[in-house]
Amino acid sequence: MSEPLVVLKDVNKHFGDLHVLKDINVTVERGEVVILIGPSGSGKSTLCRTINRLETFESGSITIDGKELPEEGKELAALRSDVGMVFQSFNLFAHKTILENVTLGPMKVRGIKKAEAEKRAMELLERVGIAHQAHKYPAQLSGGQQQRVAIARSLAMDPKVMLFDEPTSALDPEMITEVLDVMVQLAKSGMTMIVVTHEMGFARKAADRVVFLSDGEVHEQATPEEFFTHPKSDRAKDFLGKIL
Ligand code: ADP
Ligand code: MG
Repeated sequence: MSEPLVVLKDVNKHFGDLHVLKDINVTVERGEVVILIGPSGSGKSTLCRTINRLETFESGSITIDGKELPEEGKELAALRSDVGMVFQSFNLFAHKTILENVTLGPMKVRGIKKAEAEKRAMELLERVGIAHQAHKYPAQLSGGQQQRVAIARSLAMDPKVMLFDEPTSALDPEMITEVLDVMVQLAKSGMTMIVVTHEMGFARKAADRVVFLSDGEVHEQATPEEFFTHPKSDRAKDFLGKIL
């Protein structure tokens, strides 16, 4: 059996006096879709950012595809491009076209030639349903469309794993489905994904496992079915009582 794609071992992180991640042990297999769920302030975003080394941590280890992420330098840039990340705010470059937003990373970081980068970008924009808007600027698109571009932009780097941190929570309700549909397709295509979301529909359709985080600790790991119908810990029961 091949080794898991993402392995977090005894990861601990503090913000000053706040112990924000406590002995986190999480393993994600290739092609697996893991939902990270928990109360606000429980450390979900910090965990995502730590996996991507946007945050440092004090002890423990994180490996992606068998390699430990270095703290800085060129190697970090290369390894970090193995980890795609989509945030709540879409963070597109406002003064670049949709197409340029998607080709920039591959050209700059991967050294791919413009024509090839554009061909691949158009395929990805096709996949997220935005190809016909390739020459527009971000502000000319709706929030849902911009978020789909952000997903295409991440995919253009050929990541091994995609992290999503509440990708639909800044969207108007009518735009949530179009983004979740793209994510469901991505999950079905075999992409390894770690997704912070409270969207039950996505969890039921696409998730293999739920990791429940509370107060910086993993309290429960289960299939979505088990977790949503028979949560074991009191904290999970309490949390689900509030969101369901
Ligand atoms: P979640 O995404 O689950 O809502 P976060 O990871 O954003 O939680 O935050 C976890 C805890 O860490 C919160 O108490 C938050 O206030 C704190 N925190 C997050 N980022 C920072 C930071 N840069 N400096 C200090 N405290 C932070
Ligand atoms: Mg968060």
